[in-house]
Amino acid sequence: MALFSKKDKYIRINPNRASREKPQAKPEVPDELFSKCPGCKHTIYQKDLGNDSVCPNCGYNFRISAHERLNLTVDENSFEEMFIGIETKDPLNFPNYQEKLALTREKTGLDEAVLTGTASIKGHKTALGIMDSNFIMASMGTVVGEKITRLFEYATEHKLPVVLFTASGGARMQEGIMSLMQMAKVSAAVQRHSAAGLFYLTVLTDPTTGGVTASFAMEGDIILAETQALVGFAGRRVIESTVREKLPDDFQKAEFLMEHGFVDAIVKRGDMRDTLATLLAFHGGQA
Ligand SMILES: [Zn+2]
Repeated sequence: MALFSKKDKYIRINPNRASREKPQAKPEVPDELFSKCPGCKHTIYQKDLGNDSVCPNCGYNFRISAHERLNLTVDENSFEEMFIGIETKDPLNFPNYQEKLALTREKTGLDEAVLTGTASIKGHKTALGIMDSNFIMASMGTVVGEKITRLFEYATEHKLPVVLFTASGGARMQEGIMSLMQMAKVSAAVQRHSAAGLFYLTVLTDPTTGGVTASFAMEGDIILAETQALVGFAGRRVIESTVREKLPDDFQKAEFLMEHGFVDAIVKRGDMRDTLATLLAFHGGQA
């Protein structure tokens, strides 16, 4: 009789009890599977965005990281990063600023809000800067200003054109007035580069605002913009309450700026590499 008797050696699962304790699990959809398009407000299946992160419905260019943009733009293995490791000043001893920087560096893999160096685009060598809005909204502090200034100085010395992808929420408030000084500093370097007869091209990406718009973003010999990019100086609400007028819906969109003569061309992300190569060929990029 004892041959087959159970001796409580195993855990017994009571199916009724298990279902009672665990309420029916709702099917979960991981966040990263879908994105809401800021352009047309549709929910887009992540895979439909493709490599260049463009909305298949309305053509909105999703914000991408500096490294993703680098991969879409330059010839393979041609990028040489420069001007890294410049120490960030914290002149105001702004609370938690250093911690925020350290955390952002770790999260983005970037040293600051702009990636700088040299690269080839379809064989045309150029100095290249790419701002990344994932890094404290690509706000312009002393290091961003210094890196872009050095990029222009290097390009002037080596007779290279400069291609700069701009993105920014404006000056970096944690560095106070030092941030605003970067506008003049970079502009002076841009001017010396221009005086040497060299070509400077800016690509305005979503969003390019504040002090960056008010200085080097708008100083390009040719200014391109990505489809539907937000480009402006002050925010819409600030302007509306100052001028006491309702602004048009597309105010501060790349298309509106192009209509009013601030932008030379709006280029689809998928066509950007070819367009840059053509313009570099026309305007003196070394082949
Ligand atoms: Zn869309």
